[in-house]
Amino acid sequence: MRYKFATKAIHAGQHADPTTGAVMTPIYQTSTYRQAAPGDHQGFEYSRGTNPTRKALEDCLAALENGNHGLAFSSGMAATETVLKLLKPGDEVITGDDLYGGSYRMFTKVYAHYGIKFYFVDTSKPEQIEEKMTVNTRLIWIETPTNPTLKLADIAAIGKLAKRAGALLAVDNTFASPYLQNPLDLGADIVMHSVTKYIGGHSDVVMGALVMNDKGLYDKLFFYYNACGGTPGPQDSFLVLRGIKTLHLRMRAHCENGRKVAEYLKTHPRIEKIYWPGFEDHPGHGIAKQQMRDFGGMVSIVLKDASLTDTFKVASSFKVFTLAESLGGVESLINHPATMTHGSIPREIRERVGVVDNLIRISVGIEDIDDLLEDLAQALG
Ligand SMILES: *Cc1c(COP(=O)(O)O)cnc(C)c1O
Repeated sequence: MRYKFATKAIHAGQHADPTTGAVMTPIYQTSTYRQAAPGDHQGFEYSRGTNPTRKALEDCLAALENGNHGLAFSSGMAATETVLKLLKPGDEVITGDDLYGGSYRMFTKVYAHYGIKFYFVDTSKPEQIEEKMTVNTRLIWIETPTNPTLKLADIAAIGKLAKRAGALLAVDNTFASPYLQNPLDLGADIVMHSVTKYIGGHSDVVMGALVMNDKGLYDKLFFYYNACGGTPGPQDSFLVLRGIKTLHLRMRAHCENGRKVAEYLKTHPRIEKIYWPGFEDHPGHGIAKQQMRDFGGMVSIVLKDASLTDTFKVASSFKVFTLAESLGGVESLINHPATMTHGSIPREIRERVGVVDNLIRISVGIEDIDDLLEDLAQALG
């Protein structure tokens, strides 16, 4: 199906229900399926493995990432963990030094204990990845743009390195969403999403996903998926299918508002530093233009001469923006990474990559831009 993005967002994986003609994919709230004789079924046996509502969602996600196979998980972390299950003791992983805090925690506090070795490098410099490559490198795991300092990694260049090492390249595409970036087209083997964020888009579901092209890889991942059981339910699958229908419209609005917020904050006297890949002086601007369709709705700022207390005061004084974990929903959110999303990363490591006490991350929502700018003005004022 070679339809364009908006058409796929609304139709991919979905068909009118054969028994009733219902246009919307029903919520198949069932754990099991009748078999006419043992083994004689209609493709569905037990909902840990497959469920029709989830199947529609997985096919839609695969289409949006230009991939052949999709798998939906009960969370982004469950999706990430399933990729790590491909590894065995002695295997090595090269990954970013400013990862999502939960990914860092899983790598260092869970999987390192199973004899897997992790190297954390600045993935905006592919040569740092190359330096850590050995015969044991099995997986390169990157995020781009990164969270929260919005560094860019060159997916195509890193894909070539992965091929050379015989390793898989997995890209956490949560911040860009499939609307802005499609890593499989650039040489990645696996795309991971925290569907909780832009794809779900309404801050009402926690879910994750993997998309890939290779059937052998899909079969392996599906084996772990079904064996270990981090599967989402049909109700959540339905909500995400519904959310995806406006992904393209929401992303356009996030990008437009994100640009206006970034431009407003760039010259604000209380701002010491701003991270947004759309600025020409952002170090990753060139790569962003090359591999993304726009610059997204995430903006991070460092407050000038602000202590932790000052920063907390600013973070707590918004009226339209909500102080909360997470991102990518229709509503604008403010986050204090050092104590919230990245609290599980030791201080010296987090400060080295720019997650300082006076850093605030903004997920720009799709409210009226005038109200957002006015709220920023009063909170910073
Ligand atoms: C939120 C997030 C995750 C984890 O996803 P959950 O759905 O919360 O489990 C992973 N990576 C990034 C970049 C995220 O923002």
